[in-house]
Amino acid sequence: MENGSTKKKKWAFQGNPELNTASEITIRAVLAMLKTHLNQSDSRPVIPLGHGDPSSFSCFRTSPIAEDAIANALRSAKFTGYSPTVGVLPARRAVAEYLSQDLPNRISPDDVFLTVGCTQAIQTIITVLADSKANILLPKPGYPYYEAFAQSCHLEVRHFDLLPDKDWEVDLVAVEALADENTAAMVIINPGNPCGNVFTFQHLQKVAETARKLGILVIADEVYGHIAFGKNPFVPMGVFGSITPVITLGSISKRWIVPGWRLGWLIINDPNGVLKKHRIIECITQYLNISSDPPTFIQGAVPDILGKTKEDFFLKIINTIKEAANSCYEGIQDIPGVICPSEPEGSMFVMVKLDLSILENIKDDLDFCVKLAKEESIIILPGISVGLKNWLRLTFAIEPSSLEDGIKRIKAFCRRHSKKA
Ligand SMILES: *Cc1c(COP(=O)(O)O)cnc(C)c1O
Repeated sequence: MENGSTKKKKWAFQGNPELNTASEITIRAVLAMLKTHLNQSDSRPVIPLGHGDPSSFSCFRTSPIAEDAIANALRSAKFTGYSPTVGVLPARRAVAEYLSQDLPNRISPDDVFLTVGCTQAIQTIITVLADSKANILLPKPGYPYYEAFAQSCHLEVRHFDLLPDKDWEVDLVAVEALADENTAAMVIINPGNPCGNVFTFQHLQKVAETARKLGILVIADEVYGHIAFGKNPFVPMGVFGSITPVITLGSISKRWIVPGWRLGWLIINDPNGVLKKHRIIECITQYLNISSDPPTFIQGAVPDILGKTKEDFFLKIINTIKEAANSCYEGIQDIPGVICPSEPEGSMFVMVKLDLSILENIKDDLDFCVKLAKEESIIILPGISVGLKNWLRLTFAIEPSSLEDGIKRIKAFCRRHSKKA
């Protein structure tokens, strides 16, 4: 036995505190908290209007062509090894082909980087931009994962508004006022989550022109690409890549309703080669070199998934979502205390505003959601978690009968909580 070696160092490590703050603001964390308020003795089914994942409902089952593509890729035994950093070539070629259909300049397979869902595409671009002085402009309301990941990379975030009275268009005056010489990029999400809006061609062109003036790139989150069912058709931001460089983020998660397959992409739309000159593309590859790839057999299925899915599958899904959006919008109209400024035209969500002046015993949006979970077994996302206090984000992409039931329960809740005249 050695003398004096009995003293033990106290356990001091507490985990990375950045993760604590970053995770608190994610949608997952807020929904998990709301679930703890559900009343276990309510025999009615819980109605999930919070989370946009319709894959568990039979009317939203993916195409058999996509399922066969996975099974065939797996059985071929050709996609069992490690994938190259940027993804397997047939899959990159298929994504380039798929996206080029809607663009004036064809994109090459070299412009395509395959990622683990759109989520890893977000991680990639945020990490690449996170130089110590840089800042990024994000929409408010928006998709909180951007804030959460920027926080964990120490990338400064500045917010511009989306304007509810202008179909949620970007406040471009605010964008110009926010940007400075350290601004690297602005993010748009189109079709919109959480607003359910679809930007016009003219507005997207203005976004590109503003970005050119500011010398920044546009990051276009098009994970809901083609899920548009209103007056404006979906226009990819890449159309304007010759005005200012555009990095498009996407995945098969939403259009094919397979978020668990984890296949996404990051695309360079930059016909003038600006990003190459500034080392951005090199940086993307460097980040992907130190991170994980989508499973190789899922990549192996991509040519068939993107190339062979029939138009009638997309039409059926769009129709189901459109009918759900309409019945949600109409149902909301006569709920006291809830106002919807803008009819949803894309994605799977709508934002509604609370009129707290006519609701009794409701402090704010979070209080509304907690009490709604408790009293009516409904989960809805409070607006505060997407950046707008005293609003709510609802998804309408659930089984139609549940949606109808959900709207009825919200109505009963708001009537019960209405101030008596
Ligand atoms: C769902 C979603 C993502 C993440 O997509 P995955 O492919 O599931 O990783 C990214 N951005 C927005 C706006 C989303 O709604």
